[in-house]
Amino acid sequence: MDGMLASRRFRGPIDLHTHSTVSDGTESPAEVARAAARAGLGTFALTDHDSTDGWPAAASVATREGLTFIPGMELSARLDGVTVHILAYLIDSTNAELAAEIELVRHERLLRAQRIVESLRDEYLLVWDDVLAQTTPGSTIGRPHIADALVARGHAPTRSAAFATILHWQSGYYQPHYAPDPLRAVRLIRAAGGVPVLAHPAARGREWAIPSDQLEPLIAAGLAGVEIEHRENTPEGKKHLRELAERYDLIVTGSSDYHGSGKPNRLAENLTDAASLDRIIAEATGTEPVYA
Ligand code: AMP
Ligand code: FE
Ligand code: FE
Ligand code: ZN
Repeated sequence: MDGMLASRRFRGPIDLHTHSTVSDGTESPAEVARAAARAGLGTFALTDHDSTDGWPAAASVATREGLTFIPGMELSARLDGVTVHILAYLIDSTNAELAAEIELVRHERLLRAQRIVESLRDEYLLVWDDVLAQTTPGSTIGRPHIADALVARGHAPTRSAAFATILHWQSGYYQPHYAPDPLRAVRLIRAAGGVPVLAHPAARGREWAIPSDQLEPLIAAGLAGVEIEHRENTPEGKKHLRELAERYDLIVTGSSDYHGSGKPNRLAENLTDAASLDRIIAEATGTEPVYA
């Protein structure tokens, strides 16, 4: 049947969570696509924070390399002061409401990064231009760029070390930024034809974890899946998520959350099975995979 064939034109292995210089990865979208090919992937998604700008370059290199490209994004959300990340697959990037929201989030992230740099001034020699030097124009700015600037100034040996110390959420320098609450985020993604999957829902540490009793309202609002195989999810958290996925028939994904050299996460270290990607594609109305 045509429909069956059409939904099976991608190859494995499948990695559905990567970042480029469009947000806080260290490689351009084209470089991420080449790295995905070298890692032996058959299909990958680019999921930059709050931006879809990397799609065209990633898609063009991916298909040239024989890979299927899944357009995605990782939307920032906030619940009771805690950051929640929601992966948005196959959204219509021209959807006006979603486009306006991510532009707002990127702007608020910029102001927040400037506030953090301002607050660091008494202790560390660091100026805003140091941070800008770590970004590409128009990219989504975050703590990773401040971390890289701190490294460039010799205040920390690596990006991860800067996160573990100066930029840690309990360091006293942490500042939040505006982001929609997860319910609104899920609704925005669905309204743009996308498929919302909760990113690393059981990550270590209070900064990321969403209380499990908050999951049911999200599922009711249209949350489609949960990212279970992710290096930051705890073993107990994964077990709980598997039970939830079973109970609510959620799509289950696994991914690397690759950030180039910015994080230890390696492409293909966690994978998503073809049946899960089939479900994501079947639920999406915003856009389609770019097949090789
Ligand atoms: P922010 O969103 O600005 O609060 O910064 C948090 C982001 O930093 C998350 O998306 C992390 O994935 C990202 N990040 C990138 N590199 C690192 C790293 N080496 N250690 C911790 N977080 C990192
Ligand atoms: Fe990130
Ligand atoms: Fe994330
Ligand atoms: Zn991510």
